[in-house]
Amino acid sequence: MKNIYLNIYKPNSKSLKKAKKSLENNNVIGLPTETVYGLAGNAYSNKSVKKIFYLKKRPAFNPLIIHFENLNDLKNDVVVNDSFIKLYKILCPGPITFILKKNPNSKISKFACAKGGTIAVRFPKHPVARKLLKILKVPLAAPSANISSKLSSTSAPDVVDEFGGKIKFILDGGRCKIGLESTIIDLTGEPTILRQGSITTGRIKKILKKKINFNYKLKKIISPGHLKSHYSPGIPVYMNRKTSNTDEAFITFGKKFKNAKNTFNLSLNGNLNEAANNLYKTMRKIKKKRFNSISICKIPNRGIGNAINERLKKASYKWKK
Ligand code: AMP
Ligand code: MG
Repeated sequence: MKNIYLNIYKPNSKSLKKAKKSLENNNVIGLPTETVYGLAGNAYSNKSVKKIFYLKKRPAFNPLIIHFENLNDLKNDVVVNDSFIKLYKILCPGPITFILKKNPNSKISKFACAKGGTIAVRFPKHPVARKLLKILKVPLAAPSANISSKLSSTSAPDVVDEFGGKIKFILDGGRCKIGLESTIIDLTGEPTILRQGSITTGRIKKILKKKINFNYKLKKIISPGHLKSHYSPGIPVYMNRKTSNTDEAFITFGKKFKNAKNTFNLSLNGNLNEAANNLYKTMRKIKKKRFNSISICKIPNRGIGNAINERLKKASYKWKK
């Protein structure tokens, strides 16, 4: 049955077949994952991949994450290594993306890799994404379903907010469990974190028993998509505030802040996973209420709090004084 939005579909077997057909015809669809919603297309098709870049207004130099159902599916496209296999066995399917060398015979569209020699691969855990990947013969290129540099979508209606009727088919997998984008680790050389996520660096270090580098500590920009301004609600964001003006939205965390008309608490109990899950949802709500700016209190830098702060730094970048 259709939702009030004409382009959102319940993920039953009929819709999954329809999604498959649409993807085989090189169209792009809205896809739920456990992290955020993706804008998915056939990763082997230049036509599909170009549509994704066009719809997102994404610069051509910023490559896409390629989604597979399991390890067997990717062996012809990428060169695997020991660190990858170790992490895969424990963490996949799950919210982590691996940068690996591209196999010279790979069929992945060169545009999806921004004409580079590496591929970002991920094995999503969301049952709808998995079911779809299982019935498809091709992997899916699926960046986050938002206009480039803006907030990611964490529900099917968010995808409609971003693209209106331009995306004809969105599978509704409910609200994303995690609500923040995947952790990205480059495994083409020494393991290097390119983006923090719910799978923490500490957890990865325990599995690999190796030193883990951070991209931002290196001089070289490894991830072409790592622009300084990103995850933006489109209004100024100010971090680490103790108070706010009454005419701006104040995003709070924990019990110590008084409730007021302009406050939006990410987690009353001080739970960072809950806060991560509420972050984009709250920013979208604030935008709809037409506030002109957002102040946000200090978020503890532990666990997924690191990933939240990484996003907030980029969301607030333009407005740093
Ligand atoms: P999103 O578009 O939100 O799915 O984010 C994907 C992120 O993965 C972007 O920051 C990309 O720049 C990064 N990415 C994708 N492919 C590669 C790659 N081959 N090497 C490095 N970073 C990549
Ligand atoms: Mg994105």
